[in-house]
Parts: sequence; C-alpha cells; structure tokens
Amino acid sequence: MKITNIEVKYPTYKDDLKGWRPKLWQIITKISTDKKNIFGFGTGGGGNASIEVINGHLGNLIINEEINNKQDIIKVFEKLYEHSIPYGRGGIATMAISSLDLAIWDAFSKYYEIPIKNLLEKNSHKHHNIIETYATGNNVKKYSNLSIKNFKLSVRSSKDFEKDFENLSNLISNTRESIINTKKIMLDCYMTWDLDYAKNMSSRLKDFNIEWIEDICTPDIILDNKFYNKNLFQIQIAGGEHEFNHNNFKLMKNHNSYDIWQPDVTWCGGISALIKIISINSKKYKIILHRGGEPWGLPLIESGLVYNMAELHNPKTNNLELEQWNNKSINAINNGFLKTNNYLGFGSVPKKEIFE
Ligand SMILES: [Mg+2]
Repeated sequence: MKITNIEVKYPTYKDDLKGWRPKLWQIITKISTDKKNIFGFGTGGGGNASIEVINGHLGNLIINEEINNKQDIIKVFEKLYEHSIPYGRGGIATMAISSLDLAIWDAFSKYYEIPIKNLLEKNSHKHHNIIETYATGNNVKKYSNLSIKNFKLSVRSSKDFEKDFENLSNLISNTRESIINTKKIMLDCYMTWDLDYAKNMSSRLKDFNIEWIEDICTPDIILDNKFYNKNLFQIQIAGGEHEFNHNNFKLMKNHNSYDIWQPDVTWCGGISALIKIISINSKKYKIILHRGGEPWGLPLIESGLVYNMAELHNPKTNNLELEQWNNKSINAINNGFLKTNNYLGFGSVPKKEIFE
C-alpha cells in the first residue's frame, strides 16, 4: 500500500464542548492510497493547531510511503515521533500523529481486507465481540435507559472536604437507589483533588464499593515518585489519559503510579503508540482505554490486548451514533454489554459533507 494524499478537516461540532475543547477538539484525517477506492480515516485532538502540524510538517513526511506490513506502520509512527521532537514529545504534536497513525491502520486494514483486531492478535480465541461498558457523566438515568449498569461520576473539589464528602456520599447513594441495577461506580476528579485530600477521601469512601478513582491530581505530581505512593489509597487509582508520550508510561510503570492505565488512542499517538504502551505494561496493570467504546478503541479491546471494558462518554443512543461519523462498528448495547459488528478498518467513515 502506498500513501498518495492527505487531507485534514476540523468539523463544526454541534455538541456542547466545554473547557479547552471548542477550538481544539477532534480533527478528521483522510489518506488516499494507490488503490482508487481505498481511503483511510483517522481522528486525533488539537483542532486547527493539529491541522497546522500535519499540513505544515508531518503530512509531507509520509506522502509516497510504502506500507506492506504492520511493522511498516509502526516505523512510520516512529518517524513522525522523531521528526516532531523539536516541538512535540507530547501535546498537540502527538494528537496530530494519532490521527495520521489511525488513518494508516484504517487504510491498511481495508487495503488488505484484514480486521485490525487480527492484525493486533492472530489468535482469534483471544478476541472478544461482547464488551462490558461503562458510561461517563452524571446523567445516569439516561445511560440506564440504554441498559448500562456501570457509571463513572464526575466530581470536583470545592476545597471544603467535609462538604465534598457529604455531597459525594449522597451522589453515590442516590445513584444506587435510583438505578437499582447499578453494578460498578467510579469517580473522576479531573485533577481537582490533591494527594492528602485523595488519601483522606479514599479512606472515608472505602466502604462505598467504588471501583476506582480517576485523575486525583495532575500527572506531573503523580509521576514524581518522591511524594507519591498509590498503595496509601484505599481505592484503586486510575489515570493516563493526559499522558501523550508513550515513554512516560515507562515512568508510570517504574513509579508504580496507577492501578489502572487509561491511555487515549486518539491522543497518545494512535494504535502504534498503544502497542508500545501495552508492551511496556507487560500485563502488570489493567489497561482500560479512555473513550475505548469509540471506533478507534474497539479493535484494541476486541483483540484482547487491553482490558475488556469500553468507556462510553455521555452515550445517547443504543448503537452509539457519532455526530461526525457513520459508525458501523457497533451492533447494539444489550444488558450493559456492547456487541461489535464485523468490519474492516475502524468500521466508520466521516459524514459525507466533511470532505466534499
Ligand atoms: Mg477522565
């Protein structure tokens, strides 16, 4: 397969994007190949800044690249990573690389008609097409109507510990009372706690049957081994969605930072980076992908190389429609489990108007 052209777009999102997202959310990348009807589509963060990185530098490095096997895709990722070092090693550069890498995996899978899960793991006995789900967001009634039973609640610190504990214990109890089928509850603090706060809160919440607490504080504090020991917490600690450099996962492993790793395949360098992260992890910690229920995470979950659990971010429909994509990777969610379809690439193409 030869890459013959690259186009990148930042779609207009109708969804209410908060915080840093409105100008820096997911781009869509299209690569053309030497087969007339085979295109690859990928996505990554960074908005127009990411497009600038691709059109201004990275795109030119991969035009005319010949890709004949999985190792060739990984070599392209390594080339992009290396050439972006002066302005990259993380952040928007890696978000841009993610969208190129994913577009190449998508094209390669379609070009040679091999599902990505088979490229990742040949032994089909290890594959899954029934995947446990959890919903992220506090609108648990809506998610429960889609039959989802595991919920990750978003919580923020007000800096008043006692008041926060009371609100949090009410939120957890109300969730279990209003949704009687609730199985797992997780908490996401979005880096608003600090280490002492998190230690105290995890010991106060230890009998509340919380599956994990996510993003207790910034990754920089957590990777600093001098001040941090995850074993001081009474509940499992999860994180990794803000690590955009696969090499940082070596630190994460050496420093024993998290019980659960949560890389985002559309931000940390794509499937090629995830393969490196999986190898660094060497089955020591669970890897539960950030936004893993989106088409770009599903082949990794299906392959069995990461934990069988898909995060669904504020899901709205039973087959997880996406605003900018026609998503054919998912059959339906039933009884809290997502069933995938058979598909090539990521089973998803951008809506027609995006590249018109
Ligand atoms: Mg999170």
